[in-house]
Amino acid sequence: MTTLVVAEQQNGILNPATWETVTLAKGIGHPVTVVVLGADNVDEVLVVEDSALEFYTADGFSMALEQVIRAEDPTLVLLSHTYQARDFVPALGARLGRTLLTDCTKVEVRDSVLIFTRPMFQGKMMADVRLTGPNPHLVTFQIGATQVDNIDLGVSSAVRRSFVVTLPTDQIRQRPELPFREAKQAVDLSQAERIVAVGRGIKSEEHLDLIRKFAVAMDAELAASRPICDAGWLPMDRQVGSSGQTVAPTLYFALGISGAIQHVVGMKGARTIVAINKDPDAPVFEIADYGIVGDLFEVVPAMIKALGE
Ligand code: FAD
Repeated sequence: MTTLVVAEQQNGILNPATWETVTLAKGIGHPVTVVVLGADNVDEVLVVEDSALEFYTADGFSMALEQVIRAEDPTLVLLSHTYQARDFVPALGARLGRTLLTDCTKVEVRDSVLIFTRPMFQGKMMADVRLTGPNPHLVTFQIGATQVDNIDLGVSSAVRRSFVVTLPTDQIRQRPELPFREAKQAVDLSQAERIVAVGRGIKSEEHLDLIRKFAVAMDAELAASRPICDAGWLPMDRQVGSSGQTVAPTLYFALGISGAIQHVVGMKGARTIVAINKDPDAPVFEIADYGIVGDLFEVVPAMIKALGE
């Protein structure tokens, strides 16, 4: 019984979500192998280097991982549910003819059986899933599914092992362009350490300046609930929730956000959630670590003033 974790890196920098997946893999109790794909800039554990992997392509990555998985024959293959994984993992599952379970939030062993938990119907229900069929099973975990406190970063006795793959370039149909993160104005909130998110409680677009000032004072990224993005007050890449981004910052401010389930599924992995809402019964207070019942137009300026001092 072994677990293979597929790490995600870009320009030699590991996506922090990989550590969450490693934590979940360790919790399962089988020996854990990590595989890193790239060109010549990675030096982690099972390393797959090939010039065809310098830039991400769905064909290149699924072809390379198919060869690794067939040779290593793990029981489980775990990945973080990132944009990149969403792009290639279904193809990888199809190549291998194996089961794929996506967007899980939890894994536990019950009566010697692995049970995975994942949201259904936009997060309205959580399903406990037992995987059947031949190994390996492929599973992706939501960003923020766990905390990485128990991992000693940089303290590893793991052996580096190279794995050689054969990737005929004529079978790679995609021609990669620059990653979306580098596109003008685009933001990857999943990597943000602090987020100030605003909802319909802000009332109108011109009041967003107040929230922008607060985000600057907090050194945080700006985010929003769906109505704010639907109204065009902020771009879509700032939307948090089931039809937006899933985030896992250390600190998340929810300002004038009611806490609808479609919003909460995108931010409940935050380490500390602070909610400001004038309605004491707002559902957001059920998941908040700190709650301020009050008018954001009074509370936020006072906080900006205090931060300035
Ligand atoms: P509201 O629910 O209107 O809440 C506004 C809050 O502000 C209230 O709680 C109110 O008490 C408070 N308030 C008002 N004035 C003040 C004040 N002066 N000071 C302090 N508080 C104040 N939503 C998302 O966010 N992300 C998604 O990805 C998403 N996907 C969806 C997908 C589907 C298929 C569907 C059906 C819905 C989706 N939604 C999503 C919408 C979601 O159901 C909610 O409608 C939305 O999250 C509500 O946004 P809100 O909390 O900003 O607004």
